[in-house]
Amino acid sequence: MKQSFYNFILHKNDKAYWFNALSFRHFILPNDLSSKIEPLLESDSTIHDIPESFRNKLFDNGFVIDDDCNEIDIIRNRNEKAIHSKDYMLVVLPTLNCNFKCWYCIQNHIPSMMDDDIFERIKQHIKHMVHNEEISSLSLEWFGGEPFMYFNKIVKPITQYAKDICEEAKIPFEASATTNSYFITSEISKQLQSLRFTHFQISLDGNKKFHDKVKFQNGCESTFERALTNINGILDNNPYARVFLRFNYNHENLTPDVVEEINPFISKENRKRVIVVTRKVWQADVDKSYSIQLQEILDGFSKSGYITTRWSPISNYIPCYANKKYYNAINYNGNAVKCTACNDLYEEEPKGVLQKDGTILWNNEFDKRYQCKSFENEVCLNCKELPICMGNCPRDFINGHCQCKKESVDETIENALIDYIENFEKDITNNRI
Ligand code: SF4
Ligand code: SF4
Repeated sequence: MKQSFYNFILHKNDKAYWFNALSFRHFILPNDLSSKIEPLLESDSTIHDIPESFRNKLFDNGFVIDDDCNEIDIIRNRNEKAIHSKDYMLVVLPTLNCNFKCWYCIQNHIPSMMDDDIFERIKQHIKHMVHNEEISSLSLEWFGGEPFMYFNKIVKPITQYAKDICEEAKIPFEASATTNSYFITSEISKQLQSLRFTHFQISLDGNKKFHDKVKFQNGCESTFERALTNINGILDNNPYARVFLRFNYNHENLTPDVVEEINPFISKENRKRVIVVTRKVWQADVDKSYSIQLQEILDGFSKSGYITTRWSPISNYIPCYANKKYYNAINYNGNAVKCTACNDLYEEEPKGVLQKDGTILWNNEFDKRYQCKSFENEVCLNCKELPICMGNCPRDFINGHCQCKKESVDETIENALIDYIENFEKDITNNRI
């Protein structure tokens, strides 16, 4: 027997936090007990000195493994399986236009709307994927620009079509949207449950003062208040919906008082289905010292009954959805891309084009290049975070930019991991998991 390469044992105050990155199992031990066991993990003979029942637990949870167990091969197999999984994720952009013009948004807001020809090709594509490619499930994500600018004309009929065809084929279907929620009035949110919308990603730009400065609209006094009112409406009208409330922060726009500003708009009952996520806008410099303030803000949300994400590890063995064979994004004009977070959507030379028969014709096998294995290098293969990171973003890797992902975030793995395990335990105690 030997210990797993992916064990993390972190100490804080009188506790030791054990986490295995390959099995994703974790537990807490008193420091003094942990300190007695840790040296015993060093070799096969000493591992056998660990009391049997505890040793079996460590084995069952992946902290201790058989001598011939090759953990890298396990990761490679899981990665290969994830790349070729037939759970299809299709992203559709009805427009690149948006009612807001946020300073940090990478998208150019081109006046645009999907025409009837592309509308029919998208339907043909869904039919092709269900009947010819025999996908095992479909997850349809609406993206933009602001997709709900064209809810009745595009989002609703295509979602209905996709839902019907998946029901006929007896495969799971769900819809989701990345939206600013401005147009999701009560009348629209009432229709989203029957269309199987299960989750929404909605961004706030910090506190009310900052958000209203970034997002404004003639005739709307506060887009912050409107977004939160609409979020509560989405949750009231759809008991299965969850909202990922994403804070785009830049170290100045996010302070703990944001919790009190939000609480009056979201009912206590609905807060259990709001997942708070914080993301540094890419233009702001990395500041590792900010991770403590972030935790305080998240603690405030947890106390008020929201779900908080303390940490965003990879859990599906690919660094990004764009890595998957069965993942495509189709623009309003029928051009296909793999990554929506770059300029590919705007380039004159399309990466791929949606055909009349519903297939996608890729330029120079562009799609296959995204199935790269960016973790197959000495640094990642010797990194304990590999199973929860899986290496570089595929787009960066293809373009030859290979900076370790740790260098672009405020959080440190040690703080994030301890915070995650502590809050996981609290959520179990409060029956939220
Ligand atoms: S990108 Fe960095 S953190 Fe991720 S696996 Fe590679 S070395 Fe580790
Ligand atoms: S930038 Fe990289 S990680 Fe982000 S969506 Fe594109 S390919 Fe994926």
